[in-house]
Amino acid sequence: MVCAGMLPNVVEMGDRPARRRTVPKIRRPALIFLACLAALPVRAAWRERTDAIMGTRIAVELWHDDAAKSEAAIDAVMAEMRRIDELMSHYKPQSQLSHINARAAPEPVAVDPELFDLIEQALHFSEITEGAFDITYASVGYLYDYRKHIKPSEQQIQAALPSVNWRHIELDREKHTVRFQRPGMRIDLGGIGKGYAVDRGIAILQSLGVQHAVVTAGGDTRIIGDRFGKPWIVGIRNPDDKSKVVTRMPLVDTAMSTSGDYERFFDEDGVRYHHIINPHTGHSASLVRSATILGPTATETDGLSKTAFVLGPEKALEIINRMPQFDAIFVCNDGRVLYSKGLEPPSH
Ligand code: ADP
Ligand code: MG
Repeated sequence: MVCAGMLPNVVEMGDRPARRRTVPKIRRPALIFLACLAALPVRAAWRERTDAIMGTRIAVELWHDDAAKSEAAIDAVMAEMRRIDELMSHYKPQSQLSHINARAAPEPVAVDPELFDLIEQALHFSEITEGAFDITYASVGYLYDYRKHIKPSEQQIQAALPSVNWRHIELDREKHTVRFQRPGMRIDLGGIGKGYAVDRGIAILQSLGVQHAVVTAGGDTRIIGDRFGKPWIVGIRNPDDKSKVVTRMPLVDTAMSTSGDYERFFDEDGVRYHHIINPHTGHSASLVRSATILGPTATETDGLSKTAFVLGPEKALEIINRMPQFDAIFVCNDGRVLYSKGLEPPSH
């Protein structure tokens, strides 16, 4: 998606009143009136803030009629993102996820119901994406370091691949335990955790009475309500040029996830090594340049946005078109833009 203003994924299109350049002369009674207005504690306004949490950019924008309450609401969303990061980050040795990766191969590991539920949901997405989404990708994925331009050798990939298979995760719903059936297995929730964090952020805002907001974490966004009675206009960026959009869409009350091969990558000898891994080969999955999924929740759209990279755009469209609550826009390797059947292609 396109970066504009505070929100990395949302392009705001002419819906803010333009700032005045000249200062009009104000007569005395009007000045007194304005002073009274300024003294009022309550001021309805859009508030926005960004932060860096979960190794990504978090952005929250909301409408509230009380400035102090809106700041507190944004604080609560950011605190929730930090909490989720503590629970699920694979960078943090004390996180429950790290604990699972260290111990679950020989024996079942008990985890929080929240983490258990998300892992269960991840397996559900493996099922419906025919294995394209697979949190055990990490068994080979950890061999890559995109910042340092490190990639595994073919032998390393082949040695790690037997540990990549979501069907080898054993969940016990009664005891809330996770067990890996193969040695060397590890899981990573980078492909669903940000969508989940966005949904949690939205749930917190809704519990505080917020009705108009956008929460974004990396490529995952959820919108509640509209903006000044009009939809939010969201652009999907050109994979090769973030200042250009391939299409724009009006959205209200929707979640949206975009995955792209331009997010975390390095190029070597004409090959792009990027962060979406084909669980069947251990290589970067490169059958599209970007994939955007629209749907009811960001956990779901996040869980689906990797499919086209691994299975290709036609197969991924087939899967999305079977589920009426979801839509998709894929930017193909040859530059074509494909839309699921619920979206009208633009007329130009
Ligand atoms: P973002 O992190 O910006 O939300 P994506 O939603 O595209 O980006 O998720 C990419 C992340 O998903 C990768 O960084 C990695 O953590 C994880 N991932 C990579 N390949 C897979 C896969 N096949 N299945 C599940 N998760 C994956
Ligand atoms: Mg995502």
